[in-house]
Amino acid sequence: MAEYQTEQRKTLVDFMKKNRESSFTIEELVIRMQSDLASGSVPGKSTVYRLMQKIVSEGTVKRFVKGNSRQFVYQITGCEHFDKHLHLKCVECGKLFHMSNQLSDDVFKQIFADSNFSIDEEQTVLFGKCAECRKGKSW
Ligand SMILES: [Zn+2]
Ligand SMILES: [Zn+2]
Repeated sequence: MAEYQTEQRKTLVDFMKKNRESSFTIEELVIRMQSDLASGSVPGKSTVYRLMQKIVSEGTVKRFVKGNSRQFVYQITGCEHFDKHLHLKCVECGKLFHMSNQLSDDVFKQIFADSNFSIDEEQTVLFGKCAECRKGKSW
C-alpha cells in the first residue's frame, strides 16, 4: 500500500514538474494526466486530492485561488520544505518566481511592524507581470 502511494505521488509530481508553468485544479490534473499518461497509472481524484494536501504542506507545490473564482489551483514550486519565501506569479505567462528568503523575511518583518499582521507565506502568492511579459510596456 505504502509503495503504491509512493508511485502515485511520483506520477503526480513528475507530471506537475513537466508542466511547471501551469496551475491546475484537482479535476484538471486528473483529466490531463489521463490524456497524457498511460491509463491505469493515473491516480484517481480522491487520491490526488489526498496526496496534494501532503505535497502542499511540504512546500513542493503551491496552492492558490484561481483568478476570481473560488477554486483552488496547484502549481509546482520546486522549493524545499525549509524554504520560507514568497512566490510571485506572472498572470500572463503563468511562471512562478521565488523571492529570496532574505527579502521575504524583510517583507514579513515590515508588514508585522507596520500592521501587526503575521503573513502566512504558505498561503500567499503575489500576482503580477514578469519582466519578459512587460517588454515594451510601462508596467
Ligand atoms: Zn510572464
Ligand atoms: Zn520557492
